[in-house]
This record gives sequence, structure tokens and C-alpha cells, in this order.
Amino acid sequence: MFKLPDLSYDYDALGKYISKDIMVLHHTKHHQGYVDKLNAALEGQSELQGKTLEELLVSYEQLPETVKAAVRNQGGGHYNHSLFWQWMSPNGGGEPSGQLAADIIEKYGSFQAFVDEFSAKALGVFGSGWVWLQPDLSIATTSNQDTPILLGQPEPLLGLDVWEHAYYLDYKNKRDDYVKAWWNVVNWDFVESRSAR
Ligand code: MN
Repeated sequence: MFKLPDLSYDYDALGKYISKDIMVLHHTKHHQGYVDKLNAALEGQSELQGKTLEELLVSYEQLPETVKAAVRNQGGGHYNHSLFWQWMSPNGGGEPSGQLAADIIEKYGSFQAFVDEFSAKALGVFGSGWVWLQPDLSIATTSNQDTPILLGQPEPLLGLDVWEHAYYLDYKNKRDDYVKAWWNVVNWDFVESRSAR
């Protein structure tokens, strides 16, 4: 059975940028919902229940048709959100350092140019989806809860949830304000730890 992971900070810890109301709703209702629906879909399938979430997502094409949609949508949602909480921190914001910073500047010209391009991609997602920083430092988007590893791509370094449920309570329809605020909580230490693997 998959479980909702705890946050490593309090629900109100990002409050200046992402309110406690959003964090509680997003974690205890939306993320919990993905976990519950994934578990329900795998009920009675002991072979699939023995697999890790990553194994299920990576082997998506080979899964029985009866569970494919649940793994893609609910499993993807569980995977994406489990990372998303870690990609944010009350001590976040600023810029990356070390090799990652150097590589971003080499590819984009400046850190701000990278932020601008990532933000533009976030605003360009039609409907619900995610924006990703890939290990080769390209920026990709997916729809719904599609996650890069389900699509045969490597594990992303960083991802941003641009579903309305991630910002509507605070920012209403203004996704651009949400994206602007989100940069203030990005946990670059975690991003750097993923890029160094
Ligand atoms: Mn979400």
C-alpha cells in the first residue's frame, strides 16, 4: 500500500508565498486522493502491489490495461507530488550554487534567463500539467499528472505543479503571480543533490 509522505516543514511554513490553506488542501486532499485511488486500483493485484512506484511508472507500457490509467494518473500524481513537497522549503529561494549554477549559466546565459524561460513554459501549459528541469538542463512540460519517467525520460531535477489546485486559493487565475512567488521557495539544495547523482 502506498502512503502519503509527511512534509518536512509545517503547512504554514511557505505562507508568504503559498498559504497554509493551499498546502493543507493540496497535501491532505489532492495528494491523498492520488494515493488512495492508486491503492484502490491495485487492490487484489499482489504482483503489482510488490513493485515500487518507480517500477510501476517505468514499466507502464507493459502493465495490464485495467491498471494503466490509474498508474499513469494516480501513480504519476503520487510521484510528482512526493517530489514537489521536497522541491520547496521555507529556507528556499535564491539561486543554485556550484556545478549546477555554472551549468545553468553556460546553457542559458544567466540564472535569470533560465528563470524566465522556465516561467514562460509554465505559463504556456494549457490546462493542467507540470514543468520540468531535465538532467540535461532542458525544460519540458507534461499534461495532467504525466511524469517524465513514465514517458521514458530521466528523473527530473526540478518540477513545478501548474494545476489550478496548486494556486487558485491564493492567486485565483493569475498563474504568473504564483510562478513568480514559487521561485522564492525553491529548494536548490535538493535540486543540486539530484543533479549530482
Ligand atoms: Mn498538485
